[in-house]
Amino acid sequence: MKLSARILMILFILLALHLSSTYVQHDWLPKQALKDRPIPEGLHPIVKQNTEILKAAAEKKGISIVITEGFRSIEEQNELYKQGRSKKGNIVTYAKGGESYHNYGLAIDFALQQKNGSLLWDIEYDGNQNGTSDWLEVVAIAKKLGFEWGGDWKRFKDYPHLQMIPD
Ligand SMILES: [Zn+2]
Repeated sequence: MKLSARILMILFILLALHLSSTYVQHDWLPKQALKDRPIPEGLHPIVKQNTEILKAAAEKKGISIVITEGFRSIEEQNELYKQGRSKKGNIVTYAKGGESYHNYGLAIDFALQQKNGSLLWDIEYDGNQNGTSDWLEVVAIAKKLGFEWGGDWKRFKDYPHLQMIPD
């Protein structure tokens, strides 16, 4: 390959990397509002309360959900960030410690739970057979409660993820 072609290719790759990291930052880095927030030791009480309401409301529709993640410490976040990078596995987060809503007690991840107890991450599953996906029914309730859904993010869609900044 000619040198000029090589340089062009490298420039192209750099541009692509830059663009993708910009999108990642847009979706994942906490808003300015998060920056001055204290790091708590657990879920924010209002997020916790809304999570209970969400579970109960879903149960009423015949949908059982399990909260698989809530508060995550800075250390835990940094460990998770290593996965798929310096540690093996798939990349599961683009947020380092202090960059995730989970670190501020403002985010939860959910999964569906089937009658036999096993968890399900299928956004099309219609367990209560009312013609609407259970997952999207849960999301609709969550949004009414004020949660923002990771499935609405334009780039890295995080379907189990719900977050909010309480007033
Ligand atoms: Zn999450």
